Amino acid sequence: MNVDPEVQRQLLELADVDAELARIEHRRKKLPELDEIATAEKDLRTHRDALVAIQTSASDLDREVTRQEREIESVRAREDKDRSLMASGSVSAKQLTDLEHELETLKRRQSALEDDLIELMERREAVGVDEQRTGAQVDAAENGLADAQRRRDEALADLDTQQARKDEERTALVAPMPADLLARYEKVRAAKGRGAGLLRQRRCGSCQLELDRTALAEIKNTAPDVVVTCDNCGAILVRTAESGL
Ligand SMILES: [Zn+2]
Repeated sequence: MNVDPEVQRQLLELADVDAELARIEHRRKKLPELDEIATAEKDLRTHRDALVAIQTSASDLDREVTRQEREIESVRAREDKDRSLMASGSVSAKQLTDLEHELETLKRRQSALEDDLIELMERREAVGVDEQRTGAQVDAAENGLADAQRRRDEALADLDTQQARKDEERTALVAPMPADLLARYEKVRAAKGRGAGLLRQRRCGSCQLELDRTALAEIKNTAPDVVVTCDNCGAILVRTAESGL
């Protein structure tokens, strides 16, 4: 394959641009914010689940409090009814004794119900404190996640800018290159990561392997416009004044 040495030299720039593009791609996949986001999402789920559980017990307790209050109210109504019956003077002595007895029972019942209600309300209060604390944890986790997402987006936008710049450079570099040269370059790049290297100090700039005397002599005797490749990695070996041939 014969290619103008000047065009061959541009392969070195192309290889640098491609290495930079590969670095950008790698950084895109390995952004520390991605791990941070995954952790923040997990945290948020945990706190949200906890909040749902707490809110469920809060509404259960609210229902119990209401039921207990209604129960106390009905006992109180019964007491009122008994008392007005006793005050009416229309009951017999036997009924009066029965009513007094019932009133005492109702009083004990009411007192027990009120104790239960106090306990329920105390539990409800504790759940309320829990709910507030967990709600704050949910808020903090949401903020943490949003912050990590914002930083990820900024980092990605920055990488997009860098990539666009390199893509542009690449387009300009490949424009004058013959298709078969590019095809060879791309084939080696796909397999080895780098498609071309500078021959310098007897080494291939791509795989860094030292060329033996025979190979060097052969390259030295090859016309500058003939494309030579590294026997080891297959990269196109670009010869410049630095090659020391
Ligand atoms: Zn090589």
